[in-house]
Order: sequence, then C-alpha cells, then structure tokens
Amino acid sequence: MTTIRVGHLYPDYLNIYADRGNIAVFARRASWRGHELAVTPLGMDDAIVPGEHDLYYVGGGQDREQLLVAENLAAKAEELHAAVADGAAVLAVCGGYQLLGRGYRGFHGEEMPGIGLLPLETVAGERRMIGDVLIECELEPGERRTLAGFENHAGRTRLDAGAEPLGRVLSGFGNDGESGHEGCRAGRVLGTYLHGPLLPRNPWLADWLLAQALAHRTGGEPVELEPLPDELEGRAHEVSAGRARARGGRF
Ligand code: GLN
Repeated sequence: MTTIRVGHLYPDYLNIYADRGNIAVFARRASWRGHELAVTPLGMDDAIVPGEHDLYYVGGGQDREQLLVAENLAAKAEELHAAVADGAAVLAVCGGYQLLGRGYRGFHGEEMPGIGLLPLETVAGERRMIGDVLIECELEPGERRTLAGFENHAGRTRLDAGAEPLGRVLSGFGNDGESGHEGCRAGRVLGTYLHGPLLPRNPWLADWLLAQALAHRTGGEPVELEPLPDELEGRAHEVSAGRARARGGRF
C-alpha cells in the first residue's frame, strides 16, 4: 500500500464546482487499488514544501475568490515550480486553471497575478461561456480519450504559441470559444475549464493523475493502474457527452 499525498490548495476559497467530488474520486479509486490518499488542505497560512505532496489540486472560484487568493498563491510560485520540477502532478480546474497561467484579468478589470506554471494568459470577456462540453485528449501517444463536463467562465484563455492544450474541443466553447483548444498540459500539470465535477464522469483522467502521483511517490515511470468496472461512470460520461453533442455551448 502506498500513501498518495495530495495538497488541496485553498479549499475554503476555490470550491464552487463540487471540487470535493474530484478529491473523493481520487480517494476511492486509490483505495480500490489498495492505496491510500492523504489530503492536506493548503490555505493562506500554509507553506508549500516541495517534495511533500505527490499531487496538487486547485479548484474553481468566482473572480471575487480568485482575487482573494491570487497574491498569496503568487508568493508561493517558486515552491510550486520546484514541486513540479521534482515530478509532482497538478490538476487545476477553472478559476484555479486561470491562476496557473501568467495572470487573469477579471470581469471588472482586476489584474490577478498567476504563477506561470502553464504558458497562457486569461482575460474575462463580456459574455460568459456556459454549457456542456466534450473534448478529445491524447495524453499518451496513440491513446485518444474523451472528457465530458460542464463549463461556466467569462475568462478567455489564450495559450502561447506551441503550448499543448489538454484537448481538442468536440462540442462546447473550451478555452476561448474560437481556438478549438481546451485546457492546457505541461508534463504532469493539467488545467481545464471542465467541472461538474470533472472526475466522476471521466475516471480515466483520475487514474492517469493517480499514476503520475504514484510515480512521484515511489520513483520511476508511471505504471497504468488496474482497470475497474466503471459501468456507472461510463454511463455518466455518455449522458454528459450526449448533452454536449446536442447542446454544447456556442455563440
Ligand atoms: N471567475 C472565472 C471566470 O469567470 C472562473 C470561473 C470559474 O471558476 N468557473 O472566468
């Protein structure tokens, strides 16, 4: 049994999209494989100590909550970069995703610093991008998988030239409603607008992240986890994907 150590950043502020559901999926899928998840909330007064966590999670928030944490997070940028350089994995959703870039300009013009873990910038636009969304990812060469979720953001996220999106939009808006990109990936760091929450209906992504976290914990390369039946999860994915295909957001 391995204890996978998760650092949950600002759970008191960035939590509007049932982010606890994502943590619950990590915990249960780890335990079904005989592992244990130890989740540490990392709030305003907590230091980030590189090497202490295998996986960091940052949830979603409205501009107001993002503004409250942005400076605090920016002050911890160096430690987070060191943690990632050491091989820790990161999943950031929505508001958290935006703050992983270089910065976010909110709806009222508030300038929020980001930590530059992902090569992107975000500026809020007039119309919110709301709806079901379906994307196609290829995190491992030749393995195409879909992610289904819900998006609700004013932010338009632009990736730097050459940056790797998390996936290609099949239905919905994605990063900016026009590039066809959704989310961003840099090694084991993933950012996405998909919530709802994300992982209960996309268990393969939870397993991919757990495998990265285990590799950090135990050393060596990520090893694919044994498959689980996932019938219910598959149905949840299909319902969500179907909604996105039928009425995914578009202007
Ligand atoms: N406040 C940000 C936006 O509207 C992020 C919202 C969110 O976390 N859904 O773009």
